[in-house]
Amino acid sequence: MSRGKRPKWMIEIAKERMEILFNRAEMEFINHPERSNRYVELALKLSTKYNTKIPEKWGRRYCRNCKSFLSPGRNCTVRLVNSEVNIFCGECDHVMKIPYHKEKKNKRRAKYESIKKRNDE
Ligand SMILES: [Zn+2]
Repeated sequence: MSRGKRPKWMIEIAKERMEILFNRAEMEFINHPERSNRYVELALKLSTKYNTKIPEKWGRRYCRNCKSFLSPGRNCTVRLVNSEVNIFCGECDHVMKIPYHKEKKNKRRAKYESIKKRNDE
């Protein structure tokens, strides 16, 4: 898989659009949950098209299984079990288990890789 196939500015725009879509999904959820799910669908399409991850902030706000927008306390339950964040989807009963320290580890690895790259050059 080759990286950087899309120009950087295009990826930035895609990220911005995903951010807008998820914000709208959150706003509309109370009155129009079906619209929220549509926004999630569009954001996921952008993610695939531009080979860009869903912004970290929103990564836990949709179900990986049924792609529903998740709103804690409304259609999903978030629990911290041991060192995992468990997210129960109220739409399809899917449980997402996210290691609690994952984000920290990823950041550290990214730093290490950028140092390594600099040394290789
Ligand atoms: Zn689900």
